[in-house]
Amino acid sequence: SSTMALQPSSCGGVGMENQDSRFSPTPVSGVHGIDQELVDEMLYDALVWSSLHGLVIGDRNLERSGRIPGVGMVHAPFTLLPTIFPESYWRQACELAPIFNELVDRVSLDGNFLQDSLSRTKEVDAFTSRLLDIHLKMLQIGKKEEIRLGLHRSDYMLDEQTNLLLQIELNTISSSFPGLGCLVSELHRSLLDHHGEKLGLVSKQVPWNTAVNKYAEAIAKAWAEYNNPSSIVMIIVQAEERNMYDQHWLFHVLKEKHNVKAIRKTLAEVDAQGELKPDGRLLVGGQEISVIYFRAGYTPNDYPSESEWRARLLMEQSLAIKCPSISYHLTGTKKIQQELAKAGVLERFLDDKEDIEKVRKCFAGLWSLDDQEIVLKAIGNPRLFVMKPQREGGGNNIYNEEVKENLLRIQKEGTQEDAAYILMQRIFPNISPTLLVRDGICQKDHAISELGIYGAYLRNKERVIINEQSGYLMRTKVSSSNEGGVAAGFAVLDSIYLS
Ligand code: ADP
Ligand code: MG
Ligand code: MG
Repeated sequence: SSTMALQPSSCGGVGMENQDSRFSPTPVSGVHGIDQELVDEMLYDALVWSSLHGLVIGDRNLERSGRIPGVGMVHAPFTLLPTIFPESYWRQACELAPIFNELVDRVSLDGNFLQDSLSRTKEVDAFTSRLLDIHLKMLQIGKKEEIRLGLHRSDYMLDEQTNLLLQIELNTISSSFPGLGCLVSELHRSLLDHHGEKLGLVSKQVPWNTAVNKYAEAIAKAWAEYNNPSSIVMIIVQAEERNMYDQHWLFHVLKEKHNVKAIRKTLAEVDAQGELKPDGRLLVGGQEISVIYFRAGYTPNDYPSESEWRARLLMEQSLAIKCPSISYHLTGTKKIQQELAKAGVLERFLDDKEDIEKVRKCFAGLWSLDDQEIVLKAIGNPRLFVMKPQREGGGNNIYNEEVKENLLRIQKEGTQEDAAYILMQRIFPNISPTLLVRDGICQKDHAISELGIYGAYLRNKERVIINEQSGYLMRTKVSSSNEGGVAAGFAVLDSIYLS
């Protein structure tokens, strides 16, 4: 029988002070009731497993850990056990992946839609404005991307009140953790294989996670479509990257399984070493680049000087397959997410009525700030909304009283700053007791989870070569925290246990 609801042990919950008042505290139960000796044993096994299998990140306490592989590694933060997730919602999220892939592709082809939808944002957001400039240049020269590679991750939360699976956002650039996400699924299966019986849990309920293999396969197939065996793949990275092992995993599989070579370059290095041939081929350090995979370039911090912008433009002008292209990148902005949620807009880009229904069903409330009625509502009840700028990477959104303060300030100042943001319905997922592991220490807390579904899309002209769901990522964070990035330090990696 299950021992999931035994006595609470000595290690109490922490960090619940800021919890939203609409929730009564969840009683300590479930995983918090697991016998402490068993927790300690699983923790030890998990730490050994992570170290032996490369479930690691750079240790921020060591200066060189973000630059030199193999120096200063620490296990990635994870939950000790997978989080229970209903199978029906899991299937729903998986089904959506190919539809969103197609939607991104279709939207990306409508240059005027992207420019028009972001035209007001452009006036007040310098970063988005630079991206739009590159996009406009490509429109003006009639640049065509015939081979298109999308490696996306659509993130969802299960809204407790409505019982709906609602999309948080769709990432079209730098979707992280295809590598470490797979490892956490394996870690959890291993722990359940050895300790599951005592918990009444079986490892087969943790779905096999295909993310790293599917992503590597998609990059390899894109490389093959480019059709020059001597060309190589280039990963655009930040100079300092503590999450480098997640990236190395992907390129390890690309090399070992597909025999495709990849190099890592910063945007500044591409500017220094890149060369655009008259026929459009991109050479970096003399080597022809067929696929450019961005794990940097999604935040203004990645463009400290004109050099980085020159590199971005150079790459965009080239024949190389860009993952993402500037159009795919812009399609993933929060503003476009909000525009797509407007009545009648999905219909412009998707043909299948059922697909449109499915997509619309997962849209939360999304509004532009020129909607006075909703702004008043948000000022009156700021906790029910999230205010989002056009940024990626976590830590940028505005919550609670600050929503009200910012809306009032923007109203008072009467500037165009409202165009920098969108308003989104706040989603309140179910809070459950969780065991979170960081720096070798297991902490009991109450947490909420966000499910990401990876999608891969590859086409060459009219031929769709890949359009599929390609794995998942569960991220879990203490319920008192608003934001959810793992790399940003808010959340831990998790997997799912289907119920
Ligand atoms: P980013 O591109 O920076 O990851 P997100 O839209 O994913 O931006 O927001 C970051 C985090 O904020 C999410 O992982 C989630 O934890 C939280 N969040 C975002 N939107 C909502 C929402 N509508 N309701 C509740 N939490 C949200
Ligand atoms: Mg994002
Ligand atoms: Mg996100």
